[in-house]
Amino acid sequence: MGLRLLANWKLNGSQDFYQTWFQEFNQNYHGSRYDILGLAPPSIFLNAIAKYSINPGIAVGAQNIDWLSFGERTGEISSEMVKDVGGLFAIIGHSERRTHFGETNAEISAKLDLASQASLDPILCIGESAEDRASHKTKSILEQQVVRALDGCSSLNTLTIAYEPVWAIGSGITPEPQEINSIHEMIKDVVQSRFSSIDLQAVLYGGSVNLKNSQLIFREKEIDGALVGGASLCGEDFAEIANIFNGLKGLEKL
Ligand code: PEP
Repeated sequence: MGLRLLANWKLNGSQDFYQTWFQEFNQNYHGSRYDILGLAPPSIFLNAIAKYSINPGIAVGAQNIDWLSFGERTGEISSEMVKDVGGLFAIIGHSERRTHFGETNAEISAKLDLASQASLDPILCIGESAEDRASHKTKSILEQQVVRALDGCSSLNTLTIAYEPVWAIGSGITPEPQEINSIHEMIKDVVQSRFSSIDLQAVLYGGSVNLKNSQLIFREKEIDGALVGGASLCGEDFAEIANIFNGLKGLEKL
């Protein structure tokens, strides 16, 4: 079973911050199905947080890895380095990486392969823009993103996809849960019909998931979990979201 509920801290946090976060999380988390939870802190804290997270049983991972394994790549970290410090997964192709860092499909494919070779769970992010949505291109854009990323892979065997509409990230707005459900169904169809050698472990939803909306979102059958940005910065909120998730999905998925 893949990771189901992931926190993405993006460019936030400090040593004080994560100590408080773990205190708050531990005080509020009532679950015991630890293998569904993951946390992607800024990579500079990965090593230290990997030790903190053993007790609540949260897997740690990277927000990004380089598309090469080593060499003249100032500022980058590799899949093997993430593995070496206790990381278990890597988020790949987040829309912020695509937009602000010009990440291409070829790079995303290479990262997926490298994560897989290092035995990290690759979490591929896809999502349509507001313009794509307005012109009713959501499904075709998502299919294109999946196909372009996976066509270029040669050694990928397991995969989690995070569907993250770009317009929903950090905006407080989400698609209707039923709409997300139908998009997840389509994503699963595309992967299973065109890339049958890849074991698709889960399709997560990401984009403004919070304490208020998580119940409605997690109720949908094809929504296997979530990637949570802003709301994951509060240890208490993330613990409560995890409790809601465990209450609705924990038993059925194990
Ligand atoms: C994200 O960027 O991965 C994300 C889900 O952010 P937020 O929850 O803040 O919308």
